[in-house]
Amino acid sequence: MKKYVYFFGHGKAEGRAELKGLLGGKGANLAEMTNIGLPVPAGFTMSTEVCTYYYANKRTYPRSLTTEVKAALKKVERSMGAKFGDRKNPLLVSVRSGARASMPGMMDTILNLGLNDAVAESLVAKTNNPRFVYDSYRRFVQMYGDVVLGLKPVHKDEIDPFEVIIEAKKKEKGVHLDTDLTADDMKELVGAFKTAIKKSTGHDFPQDPLKQLWGAIGAVFGSWNNDRAIAYRKMYDIPESWGTAVNIQSMVFGNMGADSGTGVAFTRDAATGENIFYGEFLMNAQGEDVVAGTRTPLPIAKLAEDNPRIYKQLDAIRKKLEKHYRDMMDVEFTIQQDKLYMLQCRVGKRTAFAAIKIAVDMVSERLITDKEALQRVEPDQLNQLLRPVFDLKEKELAVKGGRLLAKGLNAGPGAASGRVVFNAPDAEEWKSRGEQVILTRIETSPEDIKGMNAAEGILTARGGMTSHAALVARQMGKVCVAGCSTLDIDYPTHTMRVKGHVIKEGDWISIDGTTGEVIEGKVPTKASEVLQVLIDKTLDPKDAPIYQQYARVMAWADKYRRLKIRTNADQPDQSRNAIAFGAEGIGLCRTEHMFFGDGKIGPMREMILADTVEDRKKALARLLPLQREDFEGIFEAMAGRPVTIRTIDPPLHEFVPHDEKAQRELAGQMGISYEKVRSRVDGLHEFNPMLGFRGCRLGIIFPEITEMQSRAIFEAAANVKARGIKVEPEIMIPLVGNVKELAHQERIVRRVAGEVMKEKGVKFPYLVGTMIEIPRGALTADEIATVAEFFSFGTNDLTQTTLGVSRDDAARFIIPYVEQEIFPKDPFEVLDRVGVGSLMKIAIEKGRAVRPGLKVGICGEHGGEPSSVEFCHQINLNYVSCSPFRVPIARLAAARAALADVKPAKGAPKRKK
Ligand code: PEP
Ligand code: MG
Repeated sequence: MKKYVYFFGHGKAEGRAELKGLLGGKGANLAEMTNIGLPVPAGFTMSTEVCTYYYANKRTYPRSLTTEVKAALKKVERSMGAKFGDRKNPLLVSVRSGARASMPGMMDTILNLGLNDAVAESLVAKTNNPRFVYDSYRRFVQMYGDVVLGLKPVHKDEIDPFEVIIEAKKKEKGVHLDTDLTADDMKELVGAFKTAIKKSTGHDFPQDPLKQLWGAIGAVFGSWNNDRAIAYRKMYDIPESWGTAVNIQSMVFGNMGADSGTGVAFTRDAATGENIFYGEFLMNAQGEDVVAGTRTPLPIAKLAEDNPRIYKQLDAIRKKLEKHYRDMMDVEFTIQQDKLYMLQCRVGKRTAFAAIKIAVDMVSERLITDKEALQRVEPDQLNQLLRPVFDLKEKELAVKGGRLLAKGLNAGPGAASGRVVFNAPDAEEWKSRGEQVILTRIETSPEDIKGMNAAEGILTARGGMTSHAALVARQMGKVCVAGCSTLDIDYPTHTMRVKGHVIKEGDWISIDGTTGEVIEGKVPTKASEVLQVLIDKTLDPKDAPIYQQYARVMAWADKYRRLKIRTNADQPDQSRNAIAFGAEGIGLCRTEHMFFGDGKIGPMREMILADTVEDRKKALARLLPLQREDFEGIFEAMAGRPVTIRTIDPPLHEFVPHDEKAQRELAGQMGISYEKVRSRVDGLHEFNPMLGFRGCRLGIIFPEITEMQSRAIFEAAANVKARGIKVEPEIMIPLVGNVKELAHQERIVRRVAGEVMKEKGVKFPYLVGTMIEIPRGALTADEIATVAEFFSFGTNDLTQTTLGVSRDDAARFIIPYVEQEIFPKDPFEVLDRVGVGSLMKIAIEKGRAVRPGLKVGICGEHGGEPSSVEFCHQINLNYVSCSPFRVPIARLAAARAALADVKPAKGAPKRKK
């Protein structure tokens, strides 16, 4: 019979860390902690297979489950010396979700389950602590009422109905803090909560503990499919099929008095990566008080002063966990009457800065290898390292000018300016209008996840470094200032008061997530440390610790990757930036981008609008020196690295003016009538220009364009070579679907190359190749490879033409398509491996069959997207080419792909160096 329930307790567990898929992260790690001898209260885990069954069978359970739960509950009771529902010695439990991947706060949790009116009374007699008992009871009714019975806010500006009742009680009693309420007050709250639940939902709060338990189990499994869990899964690519496990565990209480408490901690600093014990705790409180941010907790260092014995024990656990898991962990703990219990541990979420520092430090500490270090940094996280910081001088000016509004906790590093909005739906709506926003909340909750994603930064008035806002912001790579207690936020009027200022919705503020400062208005930003070293060259690497860590990770990536990394660049400065980021060549120079540079668009337009070949050649003759100069600049910047230059590609109408004023100006410049200009422009109109007169078709109908471009490239190559710089131009013909198209253009290119070498008396190597970007090109790659010396996949067009989806008009339906899971991802962002990928495989196989060792790369936007880079590695491309700022991402993604494959496939290019 299938096993659905796994017990843990008393130093022995049926599960272990590797069973994450079955037991979820929380369940697997509770088992592991039990097995390594940490103090974990007994409990059991219902596996994710129960969840799968539950959804596949109209929300029912496997038949054997009740028996298994009963048996496991018995073991827990024995282990804890208490009985579920018993009046003399009652066992209370928590019911928590726990998926394979951590989804902080997205699903439901219920604590203190097992309490009812009678059990509460007997517990009072037993503990002699009525305040504790009724505080626990009111928390339970509150959670149960919300999660299981459904009493929650319905409108975005509404405050939690239970909080409304608590606030009213505090007002009535004239107190400020929950802790100032007495046992009787708490008891009254229990009654008031039950009445409110009955009134709003029609449900009675159940008194039978077993009924409570099954209600809670159902709600937790049900919460796998609540809106925020679904949104979160989409955001982090967590498959729906995984399901959640449910953990039922004996309660230990942090709210049993002054010798009890609760906390969360990271084994290293999750924001900076520093090797310090980093966490927060609250005495006389339950876990959710710390995470929800309703009370601002104390730093863990304070525990060392307040209770050195417990602190020492916790610090020993910290060391044991790091050694055992060989990673930075986050833990939840509870102190019950001076005794420490561990309630959770998992690999800790961290900022990009922390991920890199921890990975590098752990290699130095010999905890992990450099290969493992590469797996610890997500390629996209590198974006965070390149993000701007505030210009310190400008910030100082703002502060001196009295614009410093407040200081909170530096929960998510980086700098962000934006307009204030006070709730998540508004953040999403403003963002969709193109506004930059700072989501400003008293505290955030998992409900706010989409709004947080839409915001540039997050600012909260309550909560610590491990509050929901702080955790989620760091994971998303968002700037965050948390726990800024001087902010007086009023949701109904969409305003906040701080230091005598009134900030209204839509006002600009700036937040510094590295220092915690909140500043009125916009503060200009400047380049990050890595950019200051690499691009601006204003910082010495010796003075840049973050840069040094980045450089070590990049060096490891280069050691293991097999793909070469090139860049898409068409200007010398872009090329230099790309080299600083580690590019090894240019994979795509879009020559048409150069025509928009100074002084070039005039002759370009004249060329396009010319009536005769002679006129066209005249205009081209004026363009030639301008293009040549551009190419010289690029060859010089690339200093001997290969440079792939593509002949003109876009439809010509993109270069001519379409409004009357500009057309009249052009007519004046060209000395022809406005009507003539207009009629020529109108003549360029196409119904479907992306499939029209573009790509190699232009060079075939107007061979003089290819001739001019080839001449500009080769003359530049000859001139640069004469200056002692190595050159390696690769001429690339776009949009080829038929070998004859390529052969036509190749003849021109080779003829001009010969002419230039003769004229200049200089020889240089060059290649002629093609883009593979329409399906016929891929399908006839064997024919094309008889001419082409290299292929480069133009996956922007190849996606467009394979899917029959216009790259310019797809936005309207791509998002709904992704939401409805018709497309797993936007195919213009993440390569469609099944469709487009198949064509790529065919092209590679056919091409290399004819021309063994054919060099193949990719220059579509996918070349800088980690999962697409992985695919390119798997199908044995020689290189990927992407925009300069994505080069570090591609380097890391390529290394991770190489480390992931067991054995390189046959015909794979040799490992780098
Ligand atoms: C492509 O189609 O992928 C490509 C790189 O060319 P472009 O985007 O210029 O059409
Ligand atoms: Mg293209």
